[in-house]
Amino acid sequence: AKSEGRGTYRFFEARMGIEVRERRLLEHDLRHAVARGEMHLVYQPQTDVGSGAVIGFEALLRWKHPERGYVSPAVFIPIAEESDAILQIGEWVLREACREAATWPQPLSIAVNVSAVQIHSPHFVGLVHEVLLRTGLAPHQLEVEVTETALISDPNRALLTLRQLKSLGLRIAMDDFGTGYSSLSNLRSFPFDKIKIDSSFVRSVDSNEQTAAIVRSVLGLGRGLGLPVLAEGVETEAELGFLVAEQCHAAQGYLMGRPSPIAQFTQHTHGTIPL
Ligand code: C2E
Ligand code: CA
Ligand code: CA
Ligand code: CA
Repeated sequence: AKSEGRGTYRFFEARMGIEVRERRLLEHDLRHAVARGEMHLVYQPQTDVGSGAVIGFEALLRWKHPERGYVSPAVFIPIAEESDAILQIGEWVLREACREAATWPQPLSIAVNVSAVQIHSPHFVGLVHEVLLRTGLAPHQLEVEVTETALISDPNRALLTLRQLKSLGLRIAMDDFGTGYSSLSNLRSFPFDKIKIDSSFVRSVDSNEQTAAIVRSVLGLGRGLGLPVLAEGVETEAELGFLVAEQCHAAQGYLMGRPSPIAQFTQHTHGTIPL
């Protein structure tokens, strides 16, 4: 049993070594990924729960590595955030998403994920302003998605940045609500325009009474604060049915549409999407 234990430890050590090396390789490749044209955006529809109409899209980043194929953003975004490569990548995402949305015949909203490093960059507000001017996108069409964890390392600075962003006319959504270091006081301290309930709650809303109770309270919270609530990760009719019954404002998930190249929505294959 003793030697087995040692073997397990050595195996674990070796695995860790590979992971560290892998991270370094990915970090190196990430620095060139935008310039080499390996990044692209996919768009996932967000719908009005009452009418089913598409109200906007969330832009989601995809990286096609020349040798590894697609690497998940859940893997490369944290690496990019640690190495500051996220500033360059995030700027590309913002430009690309706004440039695309400015071409839409309907003023649908475009939601862009923004990481903590970007929020705390002294150039971020100026960048957003410049991108809005350059692309001609109406500011009210742009929605910035931030997580609570992105704000708490320096809340005063974050608050100033969010206020400046709002003065440009855009909207701010609290992403992944209910996960991480959520605190209700964040809803009061920061000028959010929307709450996005994390998919981990939506997933079992129709099968687990506790989850259902939590989602109902978040919806009540939204109503009380006058904030619309969007449920993410909706995969089944049963989950959507719950959200309709509980008068959730908006929804997003595979049931209504998978993240896809924008051409999929503009080629009129989906008659309901007015692009
Ligand atoms: P997120 O912001 O919570 O985005 C939602 C994730 O859930 C996306 O994963 C989306 O593809 C996935 N999803 C949507 N509907 C469903 C569903 O019905 N079922 C399931 N199982 N999944 C669903 P994705 O695209 O892999 O992105 C993962 C995370 O990476 C995002 O989570 C976000 O935190 C981050 N991310 C993606 N793009 C960007 C970006 O441009 N900038 C930054 N900073 N982060 C990004
Ligand atoms: Ca998001
Ligand atoms: Ca989420
Ligand atoms: Ca379910």
